[in-house]
Formats: sequence, C-alpha cells, structure tokens
Amino acid sequence: MSPLIEAVDLTKSFGPTRALAGASLAVDPGEIVAIIGPSGSGKSTLMHCMAGIVRADGGTVQYAGRDLVRASDAERSRLRREHFGFVFQFGHLVPELTCLENVALPLRLNGIGRRRAERLATDWLERVQVQQVAGLRPGEVSGGQAQRTAIARALITTPKVVFADEPTGALDSLSGELVLQLFTTAARESGAAVLLVTHEPRVAAYADREVTVRDGAARDLRVLV
Ligand code: ADP
Repeated sequence: MSPLIEAVDLTKSFGPTRALAGASLAVDPGEIVAIIGPSGSGKSTLMHCMAGIVRADGGTVQYAGRDLVRASDAERSRLRREHFGFVFQFGHLVPELTCLENVALPLRLNGIGRRRAERLATDWLERVQVQQVAGLRPGEVSGGQAQRTAIARALITTPKVVFADEPTGALDSLSGELVLQLFTTAARESGAAVLLVTHEPRVAAYADREVTVRDGAARDLRVLV
C-alpha cells in the first residue's frame, strides 16, 4: 500500500531554534499513528508542517500527488479545509458561535447550506454525546464538552487525514475512550490516516504504530527503505 501522506527529511527553524532536523513519517490510509517524544522535541511542528499550517524550510510532504512544502498558500488552505480535520488540545472553538454552529462551520465553509450543515452537526453532537450544549457558546461549557465539540467539528467533513494534538488532554478516561473509538471508526470506515500527538500511554496503545520524535528527528523506517 502506498502512504496517504508522507513527510521526508523535514527541517524547520524558528529563528535560532531548530524545531525539526530531518523528520520523516509516512502514514497509510486507515492507519492510526501515535507521535510520542519529550516536550519540545518537535512533535507539534512535525504535525503542523504535515498539515500545511507551517511551511517547512526543507524536505517534502507528499499528499495526493502534491508537495505541501511547495504548494501555494491558497492550495494549502483548500486542502486543510476540504481534506484535513484538526483537533487541538484546547479545542480552539470560535467563541462567538454556538457549539452547534462551530461543528457546522467546516461544512458551511465548503459551501453546504445552513439547514443541512446544522442537521449533520446535530447528529455529530449526539455521536460525541454532548447534544445538550448545541445552543451554548464555548465559554459556557466544560473543557471536556468543548473538546468533544471540537472533535465533532474535526470529523464532520469525513477528512482524509486527521491531525490531533493531545486530543484527550481535557477529557476524563471514559470520554477519552469514546474519542479514541471515534478516531478508530474514522480510520477503519473512511480510510482516514490519523496522526495523534500524545504523551498518554493509553492513547499510544490505541494506535497501530508509535513513532518517537527526538531532537526534531522522527525516524520512520518505512520512509528510509
Ligand atoms: P513538542 O510538540 O514536541 O513539544 P514543538 O514542535 O512544539 O515540540 O517545539 C519544538 C521546538 O520549537 C521547541 O524548542 C519550541 O520552543 C520551538 N517552537 C515551536 N513553535 C515555535 C514558534 N512558533 N516560534 C518559536 N519557537 C517555536
């Protein structure tokens, strides 16, 4: 099987700080990969470069026949909107919108009408078991409820690649289990590639594979052979 997304030899510096020093990682469709490693080792930067949020200084990120490192900003944002789903540690919901509107937002940005988008968003809030927060703003709900809302928002577009940075950080272990099951469903049923940054062993244990980042270098043996 050829990888769905493949980073080869990524380098990235922020001023004098070398965040990535030759990181390589390939993820297959339907595969869940846990990215682990000490704080500051470059895990988030690796994910941000693979997602086209941050442009690497060197190396390549192959996705759907393109190199995201060299793609235009417009192309990168189109891919993020249409092909990728994101879950960040603290949710990053839009504070002015209700939880329902937040979940519907990616569909609205992809041109889907309000009524249909909100119906699908309602289904997703039920799936993550927080239908009761639909009409509330993120500031009015608990951290765990906001995180579940963010997960519904990430998965509603059936993304090809899911990027999750400490996705269970704000959740108790029961909710964490639910989230991991949702990611597994996304991978197994939609063939999504799921990249999870985590320091929690139980999350890493859920993944098909673990990749360790040390000093800005992830060595994914499959890329090297
Ligand atoms: P991790 O996710 O493993 O904790 P990061 O990828 O966040 O590591 O960070 C790797 C290194 O790059 C750290 O030294 C961090 O301080 C630095 N870094 C990350 N993002 C930025 C940024 N936007 N500006 C400056 N330095 C950054």
